[in-house]
Amino acid sequence: MIFDTHCHLFDESFQKDFDAMIKRARKNGVQKFLILGDNLKNSLATVEMIKKDPDFYGAVGIFPCECHGCDLEKTLGEIEKLLSDKAIKAIGEIGLDHHWEKDPGQLKEQEMFFIEQIKLANRYHLPLSIHGRDACESIYRILKEYRPEKGAILHCYSFSCEMIEPFLQLGCFISLGGPVTFKNAITPKEVAKKVPLDRLLVETDSPYLAPVPYRGKRNEPAYIIEIVREIAHLRNMDEKEIEKTLFDNACRFFGVSES
Ligand SMILES: [Zn+2]
Repeated sequence: MIFDTHCHLFDESFQKDFDAMIKRARKNGVQKFLILGDNLKNSLATVEMIKKDPDFYGAVGIFPCECHGCDLEKTLGEIEKLLSDKAIKAIGEIGLDHHWEKDPGQLKEQEMFFIEQIKLANRYHLPLSIHGRDACESIYRILKEYRPEKGAILHCYSFSCEMIEPFLQLGCFISLGGPVTFKNAITPKEVAKKVPLDRLLVETDSPYLAPVPYRGKRNEPAYIIEIVREIAHLRNMDEKEIEKTLFDNACRFFGVSES
C-alpha cells in the first residue's frame, strides 16, 4: 500500500486517460492520493476531484509563483471557504520559490502569502505542504517564527542533510520524489538514508519530476514504486516493509484511516 502524498491530478495532461492512469496506480499498490491545488482555480478543481473517490484527499493553497497580482485577503478568503470539505487535509502547495523568482518585491509578496497561509492552517488545525525551491533559509526562518501547529511536509526535499534535524524539530516531515532515483542526485540519496523512518514520506509530484526510467516524461502516481524501490535499496530494507511504514506515516500525518 502506498500513499502518494503529492500529485496534481487536475493537470490537463491527465484528462485523456484519467481512469486508466488511476487504474495503473492501483495496480502498483497506490491506495491513497493527496491532490494539491496551486492557485485558486486549481484548488477549486481539487475540491471537485476529491468528491469522485473516497481515496482522494486534497490540499488547497496558493503556490509562491502564483501569488503575484492576487489580492491577498480576497484570495485567501476564497481558499478559506474550501476548508470546510472534510477531505481537505492540508494547506498546500504553498511556500517560497527563489529559483524562478528573483525580484525583491515579488519575493516579499511570496512571504506574505506564505505567512498568511500558515496562520490560516493553524486556525483550521491543518498541516502544510511546502515548496521551498532554493529558499531553505527563508523557509526555516518563517517556520521557526510562525510554527505550523499540525506540522508541515517539505515536499520533494531538496535542502542539505544538515538541515534535516532543524526542520524535524519544527515538526516537519521529509517527502522524497523522483529526484532520489536520478543517478547524479547525491544529496537526495543521502537524505533518503538519514531521515528517521517515522518522518519520511513519498510522493510523485505528478505530472512533474518523473523518476528513472521515465525521467523527462509525464509523471503519474503508478511510477511511485520506482521511488519506494530506490529508498528501500538505499536503506537496505525490504520494499514491502518500507512501503507499509511510509503509508502509515502519511495516514498519521493527514489524520486519515488506513483502510
Ligand atoms: Zn507540486
